[in-house]
Amino acid sequence: MGDQASVREIVHLAKIYYQRQWMFATAGNLSFRAETPSQFWVTASGKNKGNLTESDFVCVEVASATLIKNSPTNSEPTNKPSAETSIHRSIYRHFNDVQSILHVHTLSSNLLNFNLDPSEGFRLIKIPNIEMIKAYGIWKEKPNLEMAVFYNYGDVAQIAEQISIFFNENPEYPLPFLLVEEHGPTVWGKTIDEANRHLEATAFLFDVMQELRK
Ligand SMILES: [Zn+2]
Repeated sequence: MGDQASVREIVHLAKIYYQRQWMFATAGNLSFRAETPSQFWVTASGKNKGNLTESDFVCVEVASATLIKNSPTNSEPTNKPSAETSIHRSIYRHFNDVQSILHVHTLSSNLLNFNLDPSEGFRLIKIPNIEMIKAYGIWKEKPNLEMAVFYNYGDVAQIAEQISIFFNENPEYPLPFLLVEEHGPTVWGKTIDEANRHLEATAFLFDVMQELRK
């Protein structure tokens, strides 16, 4: 899929996520790997996701975070990458086959709290053996999986650094998402469509986990 088609698909998803109250105000950031695979397009900082347009993206280098160009439809250098671009970079760097990364703030993902300490950075937390796990392509009966939960440091680069450490320590991590505590999930996929499926499954999983805690 070309960059123009991908950007259209992401803008379409942003509208849906805004309506679901997953991206209120400027919350969340969505990205896809560019036709040049060492680069990716990510939503620009400070854009209201309810009226995101195809101009509200920037292209950055995965390895260096260098800003390559401003938007597929607008060459004016007015956009800045999302503050959470470093998290996207950590994931694209680790998974060569990841084509899209979606990050939103859902209600349940903000209510789930595991009291992480800044000194630990991240922790593996058991997830329930629900049918929805099949949406991740995991078909094992009762897989007893654990998800990675990260401490929500004020400095986003510190979260991204912990994510890189986590992937180095857990190269076989089976799930296509992570959670930043009191913040929201970041989900990835081999296509935009797959990332979207993974995000919907993850939002449902967090609703279930939040209900189980009541
Ligand atoms: Zn966020």
